[in-house]
Amino acid sequence: MVKVFKFGGASVNSVDRIKNVGDILVQYQNEQLLVVISAMGKTTNALEKVAEAFYQQKNEEALQLFEQVKQQHLNTAKYLLVTNYLTCEAQLKDFFTEVEWLLHDQPVREYDYYYDQIVCSGELMSTAIVSHYLNEAGVRNEWIDVRDIIRTDDNFRDANIDWSFTQAKVDELIRPVLTEGALVLTQGFIGATDENESTTLGREGSDYTAAVFSNMLDAESQTIWKDVESVMNADPKEIADAVPIPELNYTEVIEMAYYGAQVIHPKTIKPLQNKGIHYL
Ligand code: ASP
Ligand code: MG
Repeated sequence: MVKVFKFGGASVNSVDRIKNVGDILVQYQNEQLLVVISAMGKTTNALEKVAEAFYQQKNEEALQLFEQVKQQHLNTAKYLLVTNYLTCEAQLKDFFTEVEWLLHDQPVREYDYYYDQIVCSGELMSTAIVSHYLNEAGVRNEWIDVRDIIRTDDNFRDANIDWSFTQAKVDELIRPVLTEGALVLTQGFIGATDENESTTLGREGSDYTAAVFSNMLDAESQTIWKDVESVMNADPKEIADAVPIPELNYTEVIEMAYYGAQVIHPKTIKPLQNKGIHYL
């Protein structure tokens, strides 16, 4: 049976953190595993600034801000990779070019559209770097552009998933890779319309992406890897004696999400609950 893992931005925020992800994934090489990854660290926030500058027609500023994001990713790739650096760099440069081509334009559509075209690059870049690293570390994986799988409407920044189209793509393009024995590595948070425009599912949407895949693959479990042991009863950064909560039911998790605990994207639970998938 399939397992679904999700690693958030903090888990891939440095060379050491990415190596740590590799150390975890090596242990699951004999499992059918789909891994969803977010953008590195604060990349999504940085890309939001790029989109804002662009929309205010500050093209130079937008390009400069994007340059910083590019350099961060190139640096991480450089320190992380040995034999695969050049192929990774080529892939990153394709993503850069797509965004820069847009940043030279003038906005003629709504802000949310441009936001999604720009911000989606964060997940593409982080997953490309992790994928090349895993290949170097001997963890066979297939990098999949999730925009070929997750089909949404054009409600940019809060796009709604077309479940039947997406399910068909999961069956056609994801299942066979898992069955054949390779780990599937893909992006959280993003999707695409039937016109191949990029979309996003709302901030912190990677948990939701993982839940959608768990549902569609009838996964036995979904694991969100974090820098804490499990769901806590309070924010451990603020409350020193916060303790882990070993077990929650779906309703309790949904309530925590709605009351703003930084645990889980509110849309995440439904797809899991519908199929009784364990959330770890
Ligand atoms: N990178 C996106 C965000 O920061 C999605 C996610 O991390 O879940 O909101
Ligand atoms: Mg995150």
